[in-house]
Amino acid sequence: MLKIDNLKVSVGGNEILKGLTLDVPAGEVHAIMGPNGSGKSTLSYTVAGHDDYEVTNGGISLSGEELLDLDANERAAKGLFLSFQHPMEISGVQTMTFIRTALNAQRKARGEEEISAADFIKLVREKAKLVGLDDKKLKRQFNVGFSGGEKKRMEMLQMAMFEPRFAIMDETDSGLDIDALKMVGDVVNALRGPERGFLVITHYQRLLDYIKPDAVHVLAGGQIVKSGGPELALELEKSGYEQFIEAA
Ligand code: ADP
Ligand code: MG
Ligand code: MG
Repeated sequence: MLKIDNLKVSVGGNEILKGLTLDVPAGEVHAIMGPNGSGKSTLSYTVAGHDDYEVTNGGISLSGEELLDLDANERAAKGLFLSFQHPMEISGVQTMTFIRTALNAQRKARGEEEISAADFIKLVREKAKLVGLDDKKLKRQFNVGFSGGEKKRMEMLQMAMFEPRFAIMDETDSGLDIDALKMVGDVVNALRGPERGFLVITHYQRLLDYIKPDAVHVLAGGQIVKSGGPELALELEKSGYEQFIEAA
């Protein structure tokens, strides 16, 4: 499904990813853990197609299709979704309008009809309830004045609505309490399926109590330095990342 091959990425002239190789087969959930500054968000933005991240080597493909030839909108239309570590605010745009526009753009790209106003309202209310967001938030400007936790819930609302083929979740758990972590787990587990893949980036093991990953990778110094099963996350919780920082 998602194949990343010997990826090298520079930001502002500094090489951050230094030959990263990763393979997430369809139907699987992989977790990436790693110290601060190791390049986790750089990886997310690069896969999503952010302009600031210059790919100097390697490739990224989704279901056999090379993503580096596509811009961010085209990648989203292919079913790639990124839940941001720091979700942006968009003033002047109502949350409902933002989500409906994005949803319809994806449907259009897939050759599907636009969702009707009535069906949209029904769906967005249902998903707002699922992620624990008050309906009233949907009428406010997108993310403006939302708390950190509310912004993360909004990311999960979008993921639940868009039903992406592949989702990257960049520290969705940071700043969330235990109940919200469980909600994130519920959203992911409801979407899990043989045709869908997830890359879950997290600093802490606790989210993985709710989302049992098929594999865990350690990203340090711009490369995957260790891979294993779910037990690797528990091991890291005890041993920390120091060993990898020294090795990188
Ligand atoms: P992580 O998400 O693992 O904490 P990041 O990918 O955010 O790490 O950052 C990796 C390194 O790249 C850091 O040293 C960071 O300062 C640098 N970096 C990331 N984005 C930018 C940017 N837009 N401009 C300059 N440096 C950046
Ligand atoms: Mg960080
Ligand atoms: Mg980050």
